[in-house]
Amino acid sequence: MEDLVSLRDAIAQRTTTARAAVDGYLTRIAAANPTINAYHEVFVDEARAAADAIDTKIASGSPTGALAGVPIAIKDNIATRLGRTTCSSKILENYRSPYNATAIERLTAAGAILIGKTNLDEFAMGSSCENCAWGAVRNPWDTTRVPGGSSGGSAAAVAGDLCAAALGSDTGGSIRQPASLCGIVGFKPTYGRISRYGLVAFGSSLDQIGPLTQSVRDAALLYECLAGEDPLDSTSAVHAVEPVSATLDDSPRTFRVGIPSQYRKGNSPAVDAAVERATDLLKGMGATIVDVDLPMTDVGISTYYVLAPAEASSNLARFDGIRYGHRSTAPGAKDLFDLYAHSRAEGFGVEVQRRIMLGTYVLSVGYYDAYYRRALQVRRVIKQEFDAAFAKCDVILGPTSPTAAFPIGGVTDPLAMYMCDVYTVNTNIAGICGISLPAGLDHASGAPLPVGIQLQAQAFAEPTLFKIARAFERASGPLPARPPALTPAA
Ligand code: GLN
Repeated sequence: MEDLVSLRDAIAQRTTTARAAVDGYLTRIAAANPTINAYHEVFVDEARAAADAIDTKIASGSPTGALAGVPIAIKDNIATRLGRTTCSSKILENYRSPYNATAIERLTAAGAILIGKTNLDEFAMGSSCENCAWGAVRNPWDTTRVPGGSSGGSAAAVAGDLCAAALGSDTGGSIRQPASLCGIVGFKPTYGRISRYGLVAFGSSLDQIGPLTQSVRDAALLYECLAGEDPLDSTSAVHAVEPVSATLDDSPRTFRVGIPSQYRKGNSPAVDAAVERATDLLKGMGATIVDVDLPMTDVGISTYYVLAPAEASSNLARFDGIRYGHRSTAPGAKDLFDLYAHSRAEGFGVEVQRRIMLGTYVLSVGYYDAYYRRALQVRRVIKQEFDAAFAKCDVILGPTSPTAAFPIGGVTDPLAMYMCDVYTVNTNIAGICGISLPAGLDHASGAPLPVGIQLQAQAFAEPTLFKIARAFERASGPLPARPPALTPAA
């Protein structure tokens, strides 16, 4: 299994073609997707036509972009004119976007081929890809287990070699946690780095689009193609995007890695072992290890579960069956309000309904001060804690997720599910950047399951983050096993 950059280079050098790449993925998707359920929709004819067009361009020596010919999968909460954009929700079952997200425009302008739309937890709410309107996603490493969520379809598609790379979205961990559980790289940019235009809004002050990839250099390349100011997203940052790919392999000479004591509670032994091994590898590369203090780690989840549902409850108000979405045809709707209620009850799944109710509650008169305003104050303290930590270090190292992939149906308590993101939500709350990297295997359940480590860096410190991530990747080497689905039959 090659990464996106090697595929792109092979296509450019004409040792293979974009068409052969697309056909290879389509064959594997046809074989694996009925089990894995990573894709909602596959753009068979359109991907082939786009590939042929790129191959013709390359053959004639015309200039092509940085992603010429590489098939990329798109999380189904990112608007594409091609196909539907369902957010894995019955309420948007037949929604076709009249426009492309800016991220899609930028990918295709660079020559990428859209191969399909990937499954997710409904409206990106979840950590397991079980909250899906059309069935759960399965982890290619062990199909009885979850791939993580909410970008679980994208993560499973990359891990299962069903695309060259994928886009996901991350509001509290939804790129990094599934990347960790599927043994791939997942990157959450600084808030504002990549345009949110066309990303169906969940928590607008937290949401970011980002790549899920086989390698750090793939993530860096996609970041370069996607990042930058967008007049269509007023929260996109004006900050210049420094090139990161060109200098990726320059070893960072001296750097400081911060380790918070708060990141060592309740992890599985394999996760703690992966962080320890990563610490040693980074030390071996010349890193100074420093202790940092993030005492608000524990309250991240409670803060997030006030802020994110509050924003979700207002963002999702538009799906009322009149302006957007499924409209109930059940008899007995007495008036417009009743029609809204029926449509929303039929269209939204249980977790989404829970979030809307939570959010409406914390914003309501009498509770706003106690919950929402309070959470905003805590948000500021969390940000200040990170600022203090980054005065002492360049990156913060820790686990991405406390455990490896759990069995499908294995976590039924919503609070236990929310705790999967204990190490990832604060990155979004503080608006900084973070990356999950494959870092080891957990053999405790028998079959090997990947575990990841996370590196976090200050806002707009992507160049440093990528360089250190790449240095770690080089020192760490590939995982000693692959998902069994990929092992060629003897
Ligand atoms: N798992 C978290 C949630 O359910 C984060 C989701 C996300 O990042 N989109 O809200």
